[in-house]
Amino acid sequence: MKLSKLACEIAESPTFALNEEARLLRERGEAVINLGIGEPKNKTPIAAILASAAKLTSGEVKYTPPDGLPSMKKAVIRYTEENYDRLVAPENVSITNGAKQSLFNIFYSILNPQDEVIVIAPYWVSYPEMIKMCMGIPVIVTPENGTFTPRFEDIERAVTSSTRAIIVNSPNNPSGAVYPPELIEKIVGLCEKKGIVLICDDIYHKLTFDRNVAVPAYRFSKKDIENSPIVVVNGVAKLYGMTGFRIGWVIAPRDLTRVMSNVLGQTTSCVSPIAQSAAEGALTGMQSVVEALRLQLQNNRDVVLQEMRTFNGARLIEPQGTFYALPDIRAFSNNSVEVSKFLLKKAMVVVVPGREFGMEGHIRISFAGSVKDVTEGIARIKWVLDPTSPNEIYIGDKKMIRDWM
Ligand code: PMP
Repeated sequence: MKLSKLACEIAESPTFALNEEARLLRERGEAVINLGIGEPKNKTPIAAILASAAKLTSGEVKYTPPDGLPSMKKAVIRYTEENYDRLVAPENVSITNGAKQSLFNIFYSILNPQDEVIVIAPYWVSYPEMIKMCMGIPVIVTPENGTFTPRFEDIERAVTSSTRAIIVNSPNNPSGAVYPPELIEKIVGLCEKKGIVLICDDIYHKLTFDRNVAVPAYRFSKKDIENSPIVVVNGVAKLYGMTGFRIGWVIAPRDLTRVMSNVLGQTTSCVSPIAQSAAEGALTGMQSVVEALRLQLQNNRDVVLQEMRTFNGARLIEPQGTFYALPDIRAFSNNSVEVSKFLLKKAMVVVVPGREFGMEGHIRISFAGSVKDVTEGIARIKWVLDPTSPNEIYIGDKKMIRDWM
């Protein structure tokens, strides 16, 4: 069949591909450890289960307005007031099928062909592909070697007359970096001065460790929501561990929300009201579930740091948030794809190559799973790569001997 050139150029999501590979290996009885996918292991919060069950048992499961159920919007408005100190109207909110669709709808609604979007490396894998799907051009800004925080001057230098938006993801997937407030302040100033849309992907905003906080971009803007270039994306996938419910949202000026709502209406009609009710339950229920997850992740992060200390050759910048670590493995190889394949083949451990995130020479380790998986997974990586680590290891009940170095 003759296919669209544009669609064929879009890469497969590497995390989903790796996840599938891990699942198949596990089905074959292999002792796979999946440090690839970014998904907390907690059960759905009870408030979300009850709210969605109530919706289902009501038997009233029909289309909702394209931009969301009024009650779900109300929950998002309250969330925005409490967490962003901004009062927004229902006309500023659109509910989407995951934060992923939020981002796609924003790009689709603001970009004309050949418009540029500044993306800061390391970046979430889907940004460049989504921008390309919307006929835009991703312009990558890479931080100085050995850091994960961009220099403001480099962002400023990347701006051209075609720059339409800058996307900021802090806490950052894949590095775990939380950008300093001064940097966010400067980016807000730049976007306001130049009329550039500032897309804040805040999907991990409460998952920060120690004294790090992700300061909302709104804090640095005096403009009201209708005149602000700031567009915020958030959702329940990460904070509430509700990845499968597929609920995200956008806070944006009315003119953008109206266009996005039309796009939603013509593509997916609306988000399932069962999922919307679940998210509403999560947002209005006990918020201690988020803090419990944050503490568990901080503990896992500490385990990662401890395990990495004895990993000779790998360099890790301490993750300040999220559930990802991005060690530099250039002492072993510059080819992160080859290394990731080798890790899966020799040690049955799944990681994501840094190349996918615009950071070659690194591998992304997700520490969202159990402490046991994190500890054992890193021990296996060390066994494969670090010649100073013990020569023998158990993988499942098989004793393995390193024989390739
Ligand atoms: N943004 C970032 C940075 C993410 O890591 C993810 C999920 N991996 C998303 C957006 C998408 O979230 P959702 O599952 O709500 O579509």
